[in-house]
Amino acid sequence: MPSGGWGGEPEMAFCLPLPGDTEWLSLRRVKWSFRLARLAGIDVRVHATFLLLLAWFGFAYYADGGAGAMVVGLTFIILLFVCVVLHEFGHALAARAYGIGTHDITLLPIGGVARLERIPEKPMQELVVALAGPAVNVVIAAGLYIVLGRFFEWSDLLAVDREQGSILAKLLAINILLVVFNLLPAFPMDGGRVLRALLATQMKHARATRIAASVGQIMAVLLGVLGLVGNPMLLFIAVFVFFGAQQEALYATAKENFEETRVLDIMQPLPPVFSRGTTVLAAVQMAMRDSRTSYPLVDSGLRILGLIAAEDLARALHDRASEPVDRLARDHTVTIPAQASLLEARAIMRRGLQQDYPVTNETNQLVGYLSRQDLPAGFLGAEQAGLAPVGSGR
Ligand SMILES: [Zn+2]
Repeated sequence: MPSGGWGGEPEMAFCLPLPGDTEWLSLRRVKWSFRLARLAGIDVRVHATFLLLLAWFGFAYYADGGAGAMVVGLTFIILLFVCVVLHEFGHALAARAYGIGTHDITLLPIGGVARLERIPEKPMQELVVALAGPAVNVVIAAGLYIVLGRFFEWSDLLAVDREQGSILAKLLAINILLVVFNLLPAFPMDGGRVLRALLATQMKHARATRIAASVGQIMAVLLGVLGLVGNPMLLFIAVFVFFGAQQEALYATAKENFEETRVLDIMQPLPPVFSRGTTVLAAVQMAMRDSRTSYPLVDSGLRILGLIAAEDLARALHDRASEPVDRLARDHTVTIPAQASLLEARAIMRRGLQQDYPVTNETNQLVGYLSRQDLPAGFLGAEQAGLAPVGSGR
């Protein structure tokens, strides 16, 4: 029998619905995983270490009880993970009901991960999405209870019997553990999200998150103490929960800052602006005083007509120095309102292809400039890196 876990079973018993919106905090697709299946339009992926785990348990069961024990043991582990995947689908399908997609579901040795595109902002929606996972295990447990005609006993968990009935009894027990464990009020487990959602009905989202994260970290310390005196696997989970809670709190605080900071607060002063008829030579002379990657072409009311890339200006200097800059301006320039929050600015920048964004006031007058570099590193996501200075037709 492999040791470790409740009654000799592995505790791969919790799921981590990671908020997809934290991708700029480095949460990306889990590496070293490959696609197993596509169900209900969602890829189910498996991490390579999960297969190692199966091999390890298979070998241990075989060494202990021969081929029969191995088949029974591995069947149980695979069925356990089927329950975990169904739990993740509970989250994913509940999120879908609110119009939120799921990138993928990945099985890791420690549990499942459903990467939702985002976590719902409305507390009641988050509550439903968080509860939908454990609810699936409640349904499975109820079904097994009906099939077995009895409730599980702890002894079911303590030994790998070779009888058919015992696998079902252990699955019943493990599904109840999945429900209880996931509902511990600790991020990144579902209970942490339930607690946050309940708190968020009474206070600001970020504050609710910080309180829920603190509760989660206290839980993590308690789990860690339990791990020290009992099961080392708990210690591992405790560390995981502790930092998961911390990350969630940091994310919420950062998001709050980005919501409360206006573009106005961080924008750059205006670069030299060109009006219609300015010659390339004159424009280059103005540009040399304040080097930027692009310059705005404006009308007499300081309203934006287009952006002129510094590189286009440099190229034109060679043979068109006395011509007006008008033709160099790239149209369809996207602007950002000065009153927008950084989160709103990010949404605009993610859709656009420009490097620089003219910032305008309520009357559409140019008042400042915002470049991608003005935002915190990683804030826009890696897919936006390496754009042309002004960007057109890419
Ligand atoms: Zn869950």
